[in-house]
Amino acid sequence: MKTAAQENVQKTKTYDSEYLLEVKNLKKHFPIKAGVFQRTVGHVKAVDGVDMMVKQGETLGIVGESGCGKSTAGRTIIRLYEPTDGSILFKGKDISHLSEKHMRTTVRKDIQMIFQDPYASMNPRKTLKAILSEPYITHNMYSKKEREERMEDLLDKVGFNPSFINRYPHEFSGGQRQRVGIARALALNPDLIIADESVSALDVSIQAQIINLMKDLQDEFGLTYIFISHDLSVVRHISDRVGVMYLGKMMELASKNSLFSEPLHPYTQALLSAVPVPRKKGVARRERIVLQGELPSPANPPKGCVFHTRCPMAKDICRQAVPEFKEIKKEHFVACHLY
Ligand code: SF4
Repeated sequence: MKTAAQENVQKTKTYDSEYLLEVKNLKKHFPIKAGVFQRTVGHVKAVDGVDMMVKQGETLGIVGESGCGKSTAGRTIIRLYEPTDGSILFKGKDISHLSEKHMRTTVRKDIQMIFQDPYASMNPRKTLKAILSEPYITHNMYSKKEREERMEDLLDKVGFNPSFINRYPHEFSGGQRQRVGIARALALNPDLIIADESVSALDVSIQAQIINLMKDLQDEFGLTYIFISHDLSVVRHISDRVGVMYLGKMMELASKNSLFSEPLHPYTQALLSAVPVPRKKGVARRERIVLQGELPSPANPPKGCVFHTRCPMAKDICRQAVPEFKEIKKEHFVACHLY
């Protein structure tokens, strides 16, 4: 029998598209209900026209303040939320309207998610063995003996002793629970893993261990990640390319080097100016850009460019017209009227 590792390494590109995942104009609006009859009186535009592309084997980091819609975008891509509009092309096929049954039997095996708090999604009365065998049972995969061999292999991959298999979730530390989350996500040999704030609740030293583990697994298995985080330094560490979101929209998307060395969007410039950098002789200190005002409500986003109420460079047109998300330089996309 091939181990999970062997199967993953042997995965080859079987689709024509340049991207493993291509998201176009994705929207997720949640209705606001009010009154006795619970009428819809408005919508929270959590994700309001997001574009992104992910190549096989890379890590796309998605960064933005809390409430910018990055987690909702991740959950909509995996169809935990039904998209309001837009398309989600996975391996060249549009999965945005697949039925739940079709998703469960096909795509869900290939796209997995790791959450901030894996404990919340684990049954406290189940052992690690029961937790890890769930995906195999759901998808009716492998004999009992094969499952056990695979689980042993998974434990080894995430750095656990085989004896851990009979432990309960409460017996694991925060970092160990995240390893359980990773092992569970890996069980079905996915192509894409969406990690939603998966190290945010951990101490810095444990964060580094989990990120290094994820990188090692990526190299070994040829995995593709979407890594969602509010923490720019973590995103910078793990990502090949980075997307910056603000109020439900993608503001800028570029390679990590291009984005961090030459941020084009005023919002990205403000975000990066807040990150402390070691002083280098002869290099001018980056000026801190302090954004004025509060983040507007996604239930009532500003007209035109959603960032215009806080943008230090806003012009008249910014209050009227939504800037197009376009490629300004090779593989460097920006939504701003300045370009
Ligand atoms: Fe600022 Fe205008 Fe660019 Fe929006 S479009 S980021 S308001 S300059």
